Amino acid sequence: MEAMLYEKGVGNVRCRLCARRCVIADGKRGVCGVRENRGGVLMTLVYGKAASCAVDPIEKKPLFHFHPGTKALSVSTVGCNFRCLFCDNWSISQPDEIFGDPLSPEEIVSLAKRTGCRSISYTYTEPTVFFEYAHDTARLAKKEGIFNTFVTNGYMTPEAVEVISPYLDAATVDFKGSGDPSFYRAFCGVPDASPVFDALLEMKRRKIFIEVTNLIVPGGGDIKSPFLKLSGWIRDSLGAETPYHILRFFPSYLWSGSDPLPHNAMEEFWKMARREGLSHVYLGNMPGGSFENTVCPSCGNVVIERCGFEVLSLNLKGNACSWCGRALNVVA
Ligand code: SF4
Repeated sequence: MEAMLYEKGVGNVRCRLCARRCVIADGKRGVCGVRENRGGVLMTLVYGKAASCAVDPIEKKPLFHFHPGTKALSVSTVGCNFRCLFCDNWSISQPDEIFGDPLSPEEIVSLAKRTGCRSISYTYTEPTVFFEYAHDTARLAKKEGIFNTFVTNGYMTPEAVEVISPYLDAATVDFKGSGDPSFYRAFCGVPDASPVFDALLEMKRRKIFIEVTNLIVPGGGDIKSPFLKLSGWIRDSLGAETPYHILRFFPSYLWSGSDPLPHNAMEEFWKMARREGLSHVYLGNMPGGSFENTVCPSCGNVVIERCGFEVLSLNLKGNACSWCGRALNVVA
């Protein structure tokens, strides 16, 4: 299928989906490995080829403030525009060949309805690289009253955000190592993290609900100064009540050289983010503690109590705290 968002050059094409903006010669593919120039036409090679499809709690994305306690149908294809050494999903993000089961956008929407999912999440790998598939599915889902969410590294062009924005309700944007450029170069194979910040601003401008994650990778991605800088940027640019998930790292794929941080070190990061003025800070990959609960910034009562990805109690009236009535940054 012909790709969206590219322009033809002399003897090549330029892809405009992600911030790499690959210039691709005839017969070659972009960095993501799933977009190919065939005689001057850029083709997507993964349309309709689902590498994984599962029903998840929406909390697993993580989306803690967007329709909490509901189910999300999660879909992906193979491919990614990053090369993270610690990727959890490397078998589908960095495959030797393209694979996937045939699954049309119509079938995905029908499956979401049959399984009682309120939303479809484009996730596991980077949805930007299967943009056309996500776009067509999201458009159909929207007509059926089903929400759409991206779990993304945020390395999208503003043009891609603009095109998907009529159908995209929410996004979890995933930083690694607090967006430190040297960490992105060394660990993710990406020259610069600045496009992620630009994409987040574009999402906010287009009223896409945003939650932010930050994977703390010991041995380079656990440095305090970029962490403080990112916390301040979220507060000032996205809002102090933006849900912010600090994720504990576990060794994976090619990066087994460091152990997960101890709980008390993770709690220090949590405290730093709170001191920077963020109201809704969570610790991820540490189930069972109070760091998973949503607390009302006004009255201090627990509004959403969680254990892992399970919602144990929901004390909301619409989007307001049912204890004191304060409006919260929650879509319910
Ligand atoms: S989506 Fe793929 S082909 Fe397009 S710019 Fe990004 S890495 Fe390159």
